[in-house]
Amino acid sequence: MARRKKIYEGKAKILYEGPEPGTLVQYFKDDATAFNAQKKAVIEGKGVLNNRLSEFFMLGLQGVGIPTHFIKRLNMREQLVRQVEIVPLEVIVRNFAAGSMAKRLGLEEGMPLPRPIVEFSYKNDALGDPLVPEEYIIAFGWAQQQELDDIVALALRVNDFLSGVFHGVGIRLIDFKIEMGRIWENDFPRLVIADEISPDSCRLWDIETGRKLDKDVFRQDLGSLSDAYTEVARRLGVLPSNVTHNANGTMIN
Ligand code: 5GP
Repeated sequence: MARRKKIYEGKAKILYEGPEPGTLVQYFKDDATAFNAQKKAVIEGKGVLNNRLSEFFMLGLQGVGIPTHFIKRLNMREQLVRQVEIVPLEVIVRNFAAGSMAKRLGLEEGMPLPRPIVEFSYKNDALGDPLVPEEYIIAFGWAQQQELDDIVALALRVNDFLSGVFHGVGIRLIDFKIEMGRIWENDFPRLVIADEISPDSCRLWDIETGRKLDKDVFRQDLGSLSDAYTEVARRLGVLPSNVTHNANGTMIN
């Protein structure tokens, strides 16, 4: 393939200039990071699985009328997406207490929340993506009030969809993080789901056993991350046919 212009490289993905104006190619790396990149590893095959899983969820969302940046998958590790203006927020939806919320409030992990809770972090690696109240978002102009209301409504629709899909395959959606972007049409910003939706950015627990099937497996050294992601992909029926395991259980593709 001809050399392409790299637009941005993050911890788990690279964005290249796309073939048409207004498009980008999103490449999924095998790199795993946690604790603001203080812990790092290369998990063979992770990028392939997340490319497939993100495609699956983005298409599913589009199917229920939720707009996303996804256009089409190009190959094992790349997908074509719409170029968007990223809203500088991590939008987190929680159904059960876990992670930073459980720690902050002294809650038992897995405790059901009275209702889904949407919270925001300011996207800034140097600051460790700090939790911010809505007041900051409006005051600093990261989003307008009406847009923020739309972001919350969209995040809750995504939560309903994902919770249902995971429940159907015996997985509890504890929480997740999404990012949103703006596509400008006649000076009017339209919100779409951007970035990725994968076990890198969700907490997923097996309903029967409580087994963790997400990036906490890596964060907490609970075993093989690729086995956990493969299990999620297998249950959802999106395991690529040409991903196999060698005798050591390592994914080869
Ligand atoms: P917590 O705030 O409890 O650490 O994370 C809440 C949820 O958002 C978890 O599902 C976690 O995986 C996801 N999340 C929060 N921050 C990030 C991030 O910077 N990157 C990714 N991939 N996921 C995140």
